[in-house]
This record gives sequence, structure tokens and C-alpha cells, in this order.
Amino acid sequence: MKYYDKLIFELSREGRKGYELPANKIGGNSLNSIPTELRRCKAAELPEVSELEVVRHYTNLSTKNFGVDTGFYPLGSCTMKYNPKINEEVALMPQFAGIHPLQSADTVQGALEVYYNLQQALASIAGLEEFTLNPYAGAHGELTGLMVMRTYHESRGEHKRTKVIVPNSAHGTNPASAMVAGLEVVEVKSKPNGSIDVEDLKPLLNDEIAGIMMTNPNTLGMFETEIMEIAKLVHDAGGLLYYDGANLNPLLGKVRPGDMGFDIMHINLHKTFSTPHGGGGPGSGPVGVNKDLVEFLPNPRVRKDADGKFYVDFGKDSLGSISTFLGNFGVMLKAYAYILTLGKENIKNVGPMATLNANYIKESLKDDYLLPIDGVCKHEFVFDGIKDKSTGVTTLNIAKRLLDYGFHAPTIYFPLLFHESMMIEPTETESIETLDEFIEVMHKVAKEARETPDVVKNAPLTTLVRKLDETTAAKHPVLTYKAMLNND
Ligand SMILES: *Cc1c(COP(=O)(O)O)cnc(C)c1O
Repeated sequence: MKYYDKLIFELSREGRKGYELPANKIGGNSLNSIPTELRRCKAAELPEVSELEVVRHYTNLSTKNFGVDTGFYPLGSCTMKYNPKINEEVALMPQFAGIHPLQSADTVQGALEVYYNLQQALASIAGLEEFTLNPYAGAHGELTGLMVMRTYHESRGEHKRTKVIVPNSAHGTNPASAMVAGLEVVEVKSKPNGSIDVEDLKPLLNDEIAGIMMTNPNTLGMFETEIMEIAKLVHDAGGLLYYDGANLNPLLGKVRPGDMGFDIMHINLHKTFSTPHGGGGPGSGPVGVNKDLVEFLPNPRVRKDADGKFYVDFGKDSLGSISTFLGNFGVMLKAYAYILTLGKENIKNVGPMATLNANYIKESLKDDYLLPIDGVCKHEFVFDGIKDKSTGVTTLNIAKRLLDYGFHAPTIYFPLLFHESMMIEPTETESIETLDEFIEVMHKVAKEARETPDVVKNAPLTTLVRKLDETTAAKHPVLTYKAMLNND
């Protein structure tokens, strides 16, 4: 432990403080009003610091992180788009932030109306009958949707249907959610362009199949052109189609999963509808279903009666509850604000802009980076590392070098279909100037890889911390500076 490290970490000085507690309004000695068994035996180990030190500490920390508000963040599949600040303002309005989930419906009609309207908006965007907003994340939505699938088959006495087909290119949460839902995963192969191999699918379809999980455009950003045939095959076999709509950007306002034959889907509000994410949330993964599945959706739901009053409903055939109360309301408010800001007219531009931006980068860089699947992509695409493999420069090296130039890395080593995957998603909210800067830097890095490969291999050179030992960080995390001092 160097003196310098101590200097920045240890700010506490005995007796220093930055607060003043209000006088006890209950009367008497406040300590005496707390039962003995509930009192601390030892003082809490809290830092003793002044307000200015707290402000500097957190302000400094905030500048040491990379965020979508500080730079371009082309993290494929994560959809790191701009989070408009008006969304935050809406979510912070005391009329929303100050209410309690146990308040009677009469006193929160406005909040329930927003909730209801968002359910309706998502249903019309998706082409499905009804949405639950209860799930907290995309993976939680997958689990909920698969539970709907199971409950549906069980309600028909089809207890044998316990297998779910998942393509080998799927997002890792798909097979994981299927396992958690008590379903068995059956893998279907992808063709070289990442789309489902229909010939490989056919023999898998039988009376044990509960359904299939897909995303379209698929993980490689390619549209599954055979989707109507796939839907017919799966439905004819008695199965249901689940759509992973975490990233619905490419389709927004253009194509609806319900029209493609999907029965169940989730949408990540914290990707598609611009609510902030990363670092563990909070997120929201609403699940939509077709009209035959509505009764199985989780409780509680928000409904509107004939007089236009909103109420919280508990369906008797529901699969049960999957969250506390009605889910992450703050996230819903931000997503709803985003949808209203765009409106019906502009939401149609999201998909085309996201698609144009992705293709612009792809075409501009394919002379330096290996493009395994040529053709028009949707909102994202995958390079298989740098084209000139003789440089010995890996995708990891390039990802780290980008940090030196002020760009976040793309998603790397996913999907698993290629050795050096680099998944790029610019989103619709970036300007042409930003895209051009990124393209220029990517060309520059490729040139460095050819001319001075060691520079790229040793990157990052300018960040606060250099390349981390990610395995040790994951296996032996040091989460407080005190733990670090004690290790020393
Ligand atoms: C992000 C993502 C998920 C999982 O969403 P979480 O909110 O992180 O649980 C699922 N599928 C796809 C395609 C995704 O991009």
C-alpha cells in the first residue's frame, strides 16, 4: 500500500462531520425509546467526513467511469442509447415518486393510468393482446414468459411438453431461463449466416415440445426470412413461439412480433426504450402474450373498468406473482416518456436509423475487420476480429485500445459462433460525426496493429487502471479499500 493510495482512499478524521440531525421530535431521550435488543452494541464504522469531502469523493468517482453520457458506447446486444433527461424528470415527479404501492387505487388513478397506457402501447407495438409490466429484467421476463408457456400446456393437460428449442446462437439468458423454468433445452443449429436451420428444426418438433425461443433479427443482426414457415411448423406441432425482444430497436414501428407468429415475448425497457441500465439495474422486462394466454399472466395486473376507472386485478388462472407489487414503476415512467416523446410518427424512424447506422459502420470498416456474414444487417453486426491475423492482435487488444481513444469497447467474444467476435451496435441516437470518429479510430487501431502491434497489445495506456486481471477480479474480488489494506 503506497502512501499515495492511502491518501486518496482514507478520508475519515475522527469527529469531522457534514450533517446535523434534527432534534428528536418524539420527546425524551431518543436512545431510550429504542428497545435494548434492537440497539447496536458497537458504533457503526462510518467515515467521518465533511460535506465538501463527500461531494469531491463522489464527483471524482463519477468521472472515473465510462458511461453513455461521456462517450460512444457501441456495446452490441446491450443497446446503450442516449437516455433523455426529461425521462428522469418525469420519473422524479413527486406525484409518481412519492406514492406507495399499498395506497388504494382511488388515490393513484393517474399513476395507474400511465401504467395501463404503457401496457397498451407495448401491446400495439408488439402486435400482441396484453402485457404484464411486472418482471424486473429481460431474463426475468424470459422466465415469466416460459412460465406462461408451461402453465398454458398444463392447463390443457399436456404435461409431456417440457422441452424448449433454443438456437445455438441465442443470448445466454435464453437457455438459462428455460432451465430455471423447469424446461429442458434442445439446441437447434444455425446456418452459417446465423439464422435457424429449418431442416435441423423439423425432426426436433414432437409432442414433447413446449415451444421455441428466438430473436429476430437474430444475434448476428440478420433477419430470419423463414420466420413464417418456422412459426407454422412449431404451431402445427402444438408448440408456442417465444420472442426475445430485449432489443426491439430494429423493428420498432415497422414489423410486429405478433404478426410474425410469436405468441409470447419480452421487451427490455432498459434497452429498447432508452431507460438507463448497466451495473445491475433497475430494469424492466415486460412480457406480452396473444389472446389465448392472457389469463395466465402473472398477478397483479392493471385494468380499466367500463367507467374508465383503473384498478388492480388478480386473475384466478394466473401463474402467480413474480415480483413485489407491480414492478419497477420508475423505469416504466421513463420508457413511457420516451414513447410519448417519439410519438407514433417518429417511433417508425428508430428501426431504420439504428439499421442505417449499423450498416454504415459495417461497410466503412470491412476492409480492416473480418466480416464473416456479408449483407445488410439490422441494428447490429459482428466482426470476427481484425482482418490481418498475422499481427497477432486480438479482439480483446482492440477493445482495450479503443478506451485510450475515448470509446467504449464493443461486445467481445459473443456470440460464440466466431473466435474473435466483436459485436457492434451504434443505436439510432448517435450522430454521423460520432460514427465517423469511431470509424476513423477503428482504422487507426488496425493500422497500429500492423505497424506497432505492441502498442495495441499493451493497451489501455491512458486509463486510470490498466488491463485488469479479470479472472482474479471475479474470483477474489476486493470490494472495500479496508479489505485491500488488510491484504497488504
Ligand atoms: C440483454 C439481453 C437479455 C437479458 O436482459 P437482462 O435485462 O440483462 O436480463 C436477453 N436477451 C437479449 C438478446 C439481450 O440482449
